[in-house]
Amino acid sequence: MAELEQRGERTPAPTAWEYASAPESREIVKLEERYGLFVGGEFIAPRSDEYYTTINPATEEPLAELPQAGPEDVAFAVEAARDAFANGWSAAAPAERAKYLYRIARILQERSREFAVLESLNGGKPIRESRDVDLPLAAAHFFYYAGWADKLEYAFPHRRPQPLGVAGQIIPWNFPLLMLAWKIAPALAAGNTVVLKPAETTPLTALLFCDVLRQAELPPGVVNIVTGDGATGAALVKSDVDKIAFTGSTEVGKAIQRELAGTGKKLTLELGGKAANIIFDDCALDQAVEGIVNGIYFNQGHVCCAGSRLLVQESIYEPLIEKLKRRLKTLRVGDPLDKNTDLGAINSRQQLEKIEELVAAGKEEGAEIYQPPCRLPEKGYWFVPTVFTNVAQSYRIAQEEIFGPVLSVLTFRTPDEAVEKANNTPYGLSAGVWTEKGSRILWMAQRLEAGVIWANTYNRFDPASPFGGYKESGFGREGGRHGLEPYLEFAEVSGG
Ligand code: NAP
Ligand code: MG
Repeated sequence: MAELEQRGERTPAPTAWEYASAPESREIVKLEERYGLFVGGEFIAPRSDEYYTTINPATEEPLAELPQAGPEDVAFAVEAARDAFANGWSAAAPAERAKYLYRIARILQERSREFAVLESLNGGKPIRESRDVDLPLAAAHFFYYAGWADKLEYAFPHRRPQPLGVAGQIIPWNFPLLMLAWKIAPALAAGNTVVLKPAETTPLTALLFCDVLRQAELPPGVVNIVTGDGATGAALVKSDVDKIAFTGSTEVGKAIQRELAGTGKKLTLELGGKAANIIFDDCALDQAVEGIVNGIYFNQGHVCCAGSRLLVQESIYEPLIEKLKRRLKTLRVGDPLDKNTDLGAINSRQQLEKIEELVAAGKEEGAEIYQPPCRLPEKGYWFVPTVFTNVAQSYRIAQEEIFGPVLSVLTFRTPDEAVEKANNTPYGLSAGVWTEKGSRILWMAQRLEAGVIWANTYNRFDPASPFGGYKESGFGREGGRHGLEPYLEFAEVSGG
């Protein structure tokens, strides 16, 4: 006892926890040197004869070569999808379609570790997130829509739902496999076939998914994957598809909308956001701090619905910011494959530069910056979790989407002021409300212009819950019964 006390006197209290590294093995992932386009159930060489290299953003190490699909390649994939639609898939018994979706869901679960490691390798996100969020949710999406495939008549009674044909789908790099699941599962459940373009920087899990499709014995041509950059996406928009489903930036979304105007092709757009996470003085403060951290630092802030504008009621501003800063010091930034990592790598050099530019603008405009002490790896793309206080509504960091681990803090006095500030943005994707009062949650939810509103939590997803935006955040919903509608047309039955 005496000995213990003596030691206690001499040893300073630990200021930070040192973690031994706990890396997930990457052995489970087998990469090809060079991939093909997945068309008609086969990997084929691109007619364009062009390739590019995809890298690991945490090390800048090249991982594989991918085809840069040109307009001819895209047209060929669309043709394969149209053949598959006409020759079997659209006429297949709905329960048959469900069977394949269930198989895909189960195989994704069985191979989830392989997918999680590959997602972290190619995208930079922490393995804890790809393992516990991206993969379970992707599988859940296929399970959920498998359940709808033979119940469309019940989902839309008296409306005679029919598939559209071929859907062109374009997805971003922040949740590569999950966005693929959000797109492919409802399209197939509704009886369509698809051509999907993954983001240029994160194509690898989409190509591993092709292996799952073959394992599930999905008929050839029902799902086709074409890799490439924005030009490939633009070619898909121009191609002979019946619908475009796009997730990405507002800028590209607007260009697509212009391109499709008057063509009769259907369109859904899931675009950017600048969500308000609103903290009232009666909330559970420690719980709110966790929600704030999850809201903005999850997936390095590469989240369209990230709680990137923190609105704090003035009366709790000081204790809240103090707690938040203390919590930031405990976040671990580094190797995405380490199971202890909280923030992984920024997805690309281009994205890192965009974050740096906006952070520089924040400093210049007069906001006060806080970054915890942090050792960053030498190679790769990294950004320290950042908080800006003293932010005015007009600052770029309060208006523009940073899409990185950067939080802008503003204050309010009354609920009316909170609503006004929260809605003062061209976007309207999501919002968070933290308060003990149920009535206040409802009052706020009625007034916030946002497609998703979380109460006393943040960044929660469920395949049964529709997700989508208002204003410049886009239109159309993904998830839930609502998520089927954009993949169907209806021959309404009158008097039914
Ligand atoms: P992006 O440049 O708009 O890219 C999204 C996808 O579109 C990528 O596959 C991209 O290919 C492709 N693309 C680029 N230019 C195109 C064009 N002219 N025509 C057709 N397709 C084109 O966006 P990003 O920079 O990758 O992603 C970040 C943005 O996406 C953020 O603004 C974020 O908010 C938004 N986002 C929204 C949601 C949502 O659900 N609402 C989800 C995730 C992300 P490349 O990869 O080659 O550029
Ligand atoms: Mg881009």
